[in-house]
Amino acid sequence: MTQDPITKAVACNLCTGCGACAGAFPDFIKMVDDPVNGRRPVVAAGTDGRKAAEAAAKLCAGVAVDYTTLPRKDAIDAIWGPVLATWEGYAADDAVRHRGSSGGAVTALALFALQSGVAGGVAHVRARQNEPRFNEAVISTTREDLMRGAGSRYAQASAAEAIGAIASSETQVVFVGKPCDVASVKKAGIDDKLAVTIGIFCAGAPNLVATDKLLARLGVPAKAKLTDLRYRGDGWPGLMQAKYMTEAGEVTSDGIPYAEGWGRILQSERRWRCRICTDHTGAFADISVGDPWHNPPAGNVDAGRSLIIARTPAGLRLIEAAIAAGALVATPTDRDVIAKAQPNLLASQGAVFGRRLEMRAFGMKVPQERGLSLQPLWLRLPAREKLQSLAGTAKRILRAKLWRPVVVRGQA
Ligand SMILES: Cc1cc2nc3c(=O)[nH]c(=O)nc-3n(C[C@H](O)[C@H](O)[C@H](O)COP(=O)(O)OP(=O)(O)OC[C@H]3O[C@@H](n4cnc5c(N)ncnc54)[C@H](O)[C@@H]3O)c2cc1C
Ligand code: SF4
Ligand code: SF4
Repeated sequence: MTQDPITKAVACNLCTGCGACAGAFPDFIKMVDDPVNGRRPVVAAGTDGRKAAEAAAKLCAGVAVDYTTLPRKDAIDAIWGPVLATWEGYAADDAVRHRGSSGGAVTALALFALQSGVAGGVAHVRARQNEPRFNEAVISTTREDLMRGAGSRYAQASAAEAIGAIASSETQVVFVGKPCDVASVKKAGIDDKLAVTIGIFCAGAPNLVATDKLLARLGVPAKAKLTDLRYRGDGWPGLMQAKYMTEAGEVTSDGIPYAEGWGRILQSERRWRCRICTDHTGAFADISVGDPWHNPPAGNVDAGRSLIIARTPAGLRLIEAAIAAGALVATPTDRDVIAKAQPNLLASQGAVFGRRLEMRAFGMKVPQERGLSLQPLWLRLPAREKLQSLAGTAKRILRAKLWRPVVVRGQA
């Protein structure tokens, strides 16, 4: 018997771990934290599991997305998805700004939507309360709960697992997630339940092995009971820091700078699917938020600032209303700011073209994406970068034997 389409998406390295399939069919599809392969769905054996997987495949953006559905009017939109207007700004509430990953703009906008009655809840992720090595998707309805999710989690997290709860919500909900999470939620046919979607920029999600390497670097004893783990926030970009219990009480680990944690520990453990991702900035969202790295912080815990993009009229309305109400402090910037702020993401869009060519040569499946032309960005890369990228991809495919089917192992 052939594999069901969700197991096949995982096996072929096309799954992003968004969680939409499991969120929509929780009785038959469960997300499992595989330390190496990432948080991935496992489908129940039998006919009911297969039927659920076949229905779930329709909302899987890991396998297929259609960029032709997006209104794009110029070269900026062609690369990044619709960009109506852009700002650099931060949460007016100092605690939100400090706690947030960059300037707390996501939390400020979500909180403003709650407080102004635009939405009755905010679907987002946060560290699992009893085990912060893992993350969970929740719907928050208070400032306190929303604040518990502020700050990026550079780890596996399945924001779209909240799809079932959103669909059955009595009020409209703000959805916050990575671009791949937003893309699946937008395929789920629940737009009537979504007040706005907010996508965070994303260069890739590291696995649990990376989290454990980080904890070792922070000096957290292997068997210690972890009580908190922060990857970002508490200033911009913030320190990576943990808390854990000892017989003497709770201990706070040393903090290491974001540049060391991401650059030397976490980023090398991003999953392969992230290396062939074509949407790092949330093209399908109403609003996208990232770091204005072109105006970097001077230190590790500066007052934060976010880069804020309105992509749809609904997103634009919420941002403008939040600014007018004093919830968000923001200054308009040029529409071409994303390329300035994220040169690495622009280069990686180009490299994806070459990576996918090589995947095909190795007989591997690639995502089906309509209406996105990567070739021009590839052609813009200097010859040396093209060669390095091709050689690096071949090495990675061979070393990790990426053509072999991924089999998920780990805890649900
Ligand atoms: C894995 C990862 C890679 C990133 N890469 C880049 C990058 O290359 N360039 C860049 O500019 N920015 C990147 N970011 C985004 C950046 O770190 C900030 O999230 C963004 O600037 C918003 O900051 P904020 O202060 O406005 O958000 P906050 O107010 O801190 O709110 C952050 C929101 O994001 C949600 N969230 C946190 N982690 C995750 C997760 N893993 N999955 C889904 N939702 C999550 C939280 O629930 C919260 O609601 C990345 C984030 C992550 C998680
Ligand atoms: S990408 Fe999302 S919807 Fe598709 S298989 Fe993975 S978790 Fe399920
Ligand atoms: S890089 Fe792309 S696929 Fe990977 S987690 Fe980020 S948005 Fe999802």
